[in-house]
Amino acid sequence: MGYKHGQMDSQSVFDALSTPTFLLKIIPHVDGAPRICELVRYTLRDLTIKGAWSGPGALGLFPHALAPVAELPVLEVVSAVHPDRSYPPARRGRLRLFGGLIPWYLFRGEPMRMKGRVALVTGAASGIGKDIAETFAREGAKVVIADVSVDAAQAAAAEIQKSGGVALAVAMDVTQEQQVDAGVAEAINAFGGVDVLVSNAGIQHIAPVVDLPLDQWRKLLAIHLDGAFLTTRACLRHMAHSGRGGSIIYMGSVHSKEASPLKAPYVTAKHGLIGLCKVVAKEGAAHGVRANVVCPGFVRTALVEKQIPEQAKELGISEQEVIKNVMLKETVDGEFTTTEDVAAVTLFLAAFPTNALTGQSIVVSHGWFMQ
Ligand code: NAD
Repeated sequence: MGYKHGQMDSQSVFDALSTPTFLLKIIPHVDGAPRICELVRYTLRDLTIKGAWSGPGALGLFPHALAPVAELPVLEVVSAVHPDRSYPPARRGRLRLFGGLIPWYLFRGEPMRMKGRVALVTGAASGIGKDIAETFAREGAKVVIADVSVDAAQAAAAEIQKSGGVALAVAMDVTQEQQVDAGVAEAINAFGGVDVLVSNAGIQHIAPVVDLPLDQWRKLLAIHLDGAFLTTRACLRHMAHSGRGGSIIYMGSVHSKEASPLKAPYVTAKHGLIGLCKVVAKEGAAHGVRANVVCPGFVRTALVEKQIPEQAKELGISEQEVIKNVMLKETVDGEFTTTEDVAAVTLFLAAFPTNALTGQSIVVSHGWFMQ
């Protein structure tokens, strides 16, 4: 791989260390300028890494003569960016380096699961969608952050770019046919296609049926159901035409399976997504397009933070009681599901290679709902 004397390529490093073996990637982002001989040292449980910048070139690693901890293998990082991003990072973090913070990535020897794919994620400016976009980007996908909140979408795309990923922010209100069609076309123009759609944008509205205004009912159904339909139609047309097939994933909920008081339009919409998914699984099969639903339990995003006081008020209980006795009561361990949990399941579905998994819904909820 053209490394200089004394250095090892990644395979040699993997071979030299006992498995699982590691490769460190450091992206200089303090000011982007090449830096010479700034030493980085990071001690992991089983190895120590020392590094010196010699510019944003290929990463080289080699055993260091002066092991500070004698029994540990010690490596020296001589430059910044590994040329082959075909390995997903197993761990991430930040190092303080002469007053600046630089991100580091620890790689394991597994291939990226989304390399070469283009993924459009709606509602990816925050919460669950944002984590999915970041996860897909780390796994090698080019991601499109489609959100009605344009500034936040741009900020999310910029974060991914800063970490070495490829991302594009697209302004899209998923209830607006023209915006959806234009946003999908923009993504296809920029990245040459769309292979994965995650229809994730959503809102919540807390009210008993008897007090629910019609416009709130319509607004919620429009975002969840019109949005899922419009984005599916635009992407499916392209996937069918391109001959590349694809994967469509809907963000359902435990409320795709279960009901809770005060959430009539949400429960209705989330149940509806399962019906749409099954039809798309059947119609999409001829074009190699799969469709599945991810059904999370409660995740502490903005959507949930907002409803804690709202539910407390409607039910006449404290916010702590809402968390303990309403949101997490039926879980096996009293734990919230996390955005990482949901992103991992979504990644599994997006990367799954065959039609064996289509028309399904996977619940990720700490056992709140078991099917
Ligand atoms: P969030 O509020 O953090 O994110 C929702 C995103 O959707 C925001 O970026 C928002 O700008 C965007 N959005 C809203 N309306 C839109 C529109 N018309 N067009 C485009 N984008 C729009 O919420 P979240 O918790 O990350 O929710 C994401 C999805 O996950 C939703 O479908 C939600 O129903 C589902 N979900 C959430 C939970 C949970 O506990 N948080 C549980 C199950 C399912």
